[in-house]
Amino acid sequence: MSDAVRVRFAPSPTGFLHIGGVRAALFNWLYARHNGGKFLLRIEDTDLERSETRYTDDILASMKWLGLNWDEEPIYQSKRLDVYRKKAEELIERGQAYRCTCTEAEVEAMREKATAAGKKPKYDGTCREKKIKAGDKPFVIRTKLPLDGYCEFQDLIRGTVRVNNEELDDFVIVRSSGAPTYNLSVVVDDVESRMTHVIRGDDHINNTPKQFHLYQFFKYQVPKFAHLPMILGADKKKLSKRHGAVSANLYRMEGYLPETMLNFLARIGWSHGDQEIFTKEEMIQYFDFDHVQKASGVFNHEKLLWLNGEHMRKAAPARLAEIAAQDFAEHFKGAAELDRARSPIGHQLVALIQPKVKLVKELVEQLVPLCTPGAVEVDPSGLKWQKDPALKTATQNAIKHAHQAFEAKIKDRISVTRQGADEVWGTVPSLGDVGLTHTDVDAILRQTGESHGVKLGDLAQPLRLWVTGRMVSAGLFDLMTVLPWDVVGPRLLKAAQA
Ligand code: GLU
Repeated sequence: MSDAVRVRFAPSPTGFLHIGGVRAALFNWLYARHNGGKFLLRIEDTDLERSETRYTDDILASMKWLGLNWDEEPIYQSKRLDVYRKKAEELIERGQAYRCTCTEAEVEAMREKATAAGKKPKYDGTCREKKIKAGDKPFVIRTKLPLDGYCEFQDLIRGTVRVNNEELDDFVIVRSSGAPTYNLSVVVDDVESRMTHVIRGDDHINNTPKQFHLYQFFKYQVPKFAHLPMILGADKKKLSKRHGAVSANLYRMEGYLPETMLNFLARIGWSHGDQEIFTKEEMIQYFDFDHVQKASGVFNHEKLLWLNGEHMRKAAPARLAEIAAQDFAEHFKGAAELDRARSPIGHQLVALIQPKVKLVKELVEQLVPLCTPGAVEVDPSGLKWQKDPALKTATQNAIKHAHQAFEAKIKDRISVTRQGADEVWGTVPSLGDVGLTHTDVDAILRQTGESHGVKLGDLAQPLRLWVTGRMVSAGLFDLMTVLPWDVVGPRLLKAAQA
């Protein structure tokens, strides 16, 4: 057996991929990548009633979105039911398992009896030595565990864990329907896939001693384990739907970046000094189990949002534009507008907006009106001039003159050929194209304002609303130098006539 690390993520497709699952996948992936090992994906879909294809699709799509790439072909347990049954038969032949014809009611009665006697509720071994053959009577297959002694395994987070065999009972590995139980299929596959480590949520800690014995029965060196502490909600209760979004895909729709989710989930329970912001490469470089804490970690929404803002700032504008166009076209006004974000002007707009927002969704909210040709509908009720008709007239006159001043600069220039422009958006120059900077736009507006007795702030408010379609936006003057005049011009005129 080679020493190279081999680990797996083994989700059951009985629901959408949730945050706890992502963290288990991430820790496996980081450990594999850190050690130059292999990371496998296994879909544990043996529960045919509760497993659904749409959940499998969601798991695969979410893993791809997060960039948690797996090695080798994914394993689907539903295709291997015969293998598990065969392995159970082998155990019977070797005297390590047996058929049991006790009914559910009988087993229940045994448990009640044991509980009443103050003992652990266990199967009492009625069929253990009967060597029952497969016949007419329904049967389950049970393991034949040692009655004394103990099992001991290494956990990379908890250290050495020892459990007395007395604590365990001859658990079922094949149900009367012929379906293998989780404990059997998991070990058969871990053995066949030559797993060196099993990294999973600590809700599985009680299964590990059982699986320990199965590894031994199959003569396989028991893997090392890492049982990851739970993720809790802000109320310190186990994270669940009550705490809001728990499925990975919902975070994507909210406008979180995949690198944020990985960074955030890595930091729940793992640390590297006091560093908070990590690239994927840094996480791979630094990850180890020595710095994974034993205590549960809390899911802190404010921190997640903050972290996304940090990663938004670091992301390349072209990539953010692509995410906006791909992920959000359906949710917002239309694909055509967001497609323009993919153009060089679009990238410049993204670069101006990205430091001011925390979510891709907020970026999109600002991009859509900017990528819409001509004037846009706005709601002017928040404007200061609504309460002051004199201010309104003076401001509108100032805007008219500003429009003329800008138009004069643009006039001499013929159409520009621009990548990503279309017949209605982006064919004419921008103020930036004719050499105007933020400072120039500021100066022209300040001057025009002064000559009409309007302060720059009072002038900028309606301009911002009509140019960006919003009361709050990225830097107005910067946007005005980047946006083509076929967007800015009509909007200034509209503001002057509102
Ligand atoms: N299928 C199990 C689950 O989704 C994981 C089992 C394991 O990692 O051993 O909880």
